Amino acid sequence: MLTAETLKAIQIEISSNCNAGCLECARWVNEESKQQLNPKLNFGHKGNFPIELFRNIFQADKLKSLRGLFFDGNYGDSLIHPDALLFMEHMNKEFFTDRNFIIEVNSNGGYKDTTFWYEMGKLFAEMYKLSDNDRESSVVFGLDGIDNETHGIYRRNVVYDKVIENAQAFIKGGGRAEWKYLEFNHNSHQVEQARETAKKLGFEKFFVKSTRWKEAAHRTIEGNKSDQIRASATKKAKAVVIDRIPDSKKDIVEKVRKEMDAYNDYYNEVPVSCYWNFRKRVQIEYDGLVWQCCHLSGVYGSSAGFSKKEYQYYVDKFGTSWNNLHENSLDAILKHEYFNALEDSLSNKMTDKINPRIKRCVEKCAQSEISQHQFFRLNNQHKEKLNDGNNPDAN
Ligand code: SF4
Ligand code: SF4
Repeated sequence: MLTAETLKAIQIEISSNCNAGCLECARWVNEESKQQLNPKLNFGHKGNFPIELFRNIFQADKLKSLRGLFFDGNYGDSLIHPDALLFMEHMNKEFFTDRNFIIEVNSNGGYKDTTFWYEMGKLFAEMYKLSDNDRESSVVFGLDGIDNETHGIYRRNVVYDKVIENAQAFIKGGGRAEWKYLEFNHNSHQVEQARETAKKLGFEKFFVKSTRWKEAAHRTIEGNKSDQIRASATKKAKAVVIDRIPDSKKDIVEKVRKEMDAYNDYYNEVPVSCYWNFRKRVQIEYDGLVWQCCHLSGVYGSSAGFSKKEYQYYVDKFGTSWNNLHENSLDAILKHEYFNALEDSLSNKMTDKINPRIKRCVEKCAQSEISQHQFFRLNNQHKEKLNDGNNPDAN
């Protein structure tokens, strides 16, 4: 069982607010042919994690084994929080002076001005100084193209030129920037140019995010959900239909199908391993709820109104506030019976009466050949960065 003392990494989303309208983000719903804010979430002031609560939780003497903090999640873009610089200052003072530590932020980068990003860069430069010039901490900018039009097709309301300007200010301040590319058919042809641009502009890493394709392959095979993203028009954007997996990567569907065909009843029989628990890592959402991982919170949490049928057993058994940091300490939450039930569920069937297996756990953590490769790769990394880049969010 995890405790506050043994926890190694935390992923947190300090805001549900965001400037962007990414097509698959849980902060949006497509209703009455309109892309609208998800009515089950809180936004604005209510969508911001209080800095006082953060300072109270993130204390070096309470989180003795903590080595990494990752700003990412399901509903918002953390650095849009009005106190974003204060959160980072606190971490520098409390953790970087105390131990080797890593911070990673995933962001669309298209908001606030260059002064903010320059100041953020300076805080990252301070982190490197405090960690013997180890430049592991970074901001990962999501950039899905090399011009405003291409970038804005999936990542609505985000202007490529502005992100580049902000990223350059961050780099100038001394921060390490990475470029993450979500590849679709409409931007496949720009991948290599983007790689070159990243190098030229001083990004220290460029990568195409591929982990989302396996889940898309599951959807395609199940056939009950489209393998396409359909988005309604907004005042500024046209309605679009986009393939989840680009044509050049469609062979993943056959690989996943083969894996599933090896079982009579894939969802109940395939072994599942909880790699977040293995890595002693949890997710904290903007609303103060603590989850084992971001895969569960985004699908069964507040954006779904806690009402998905396949998760109902856990809501009926434990309620929806036992994991709320506004009401309970992090340590008390981690010691809650829920986590034993979750662990037990991994070896059960989805139809079991007690602690049934959760569908999302199979989708994300089935130990099939493809995922196993990922699982072991993650755990064998020479310089363990603690993070996995396998978040459902499209930041
Ligand atoms: S989806 Fe389930 S098995 Fe996978 S990390 Fe999350 S809780 Fe663990
Ligand atoms: S995926 Fe991230 S950047 Fe896009 S709308 Fe959602 S929170 Fe904002």
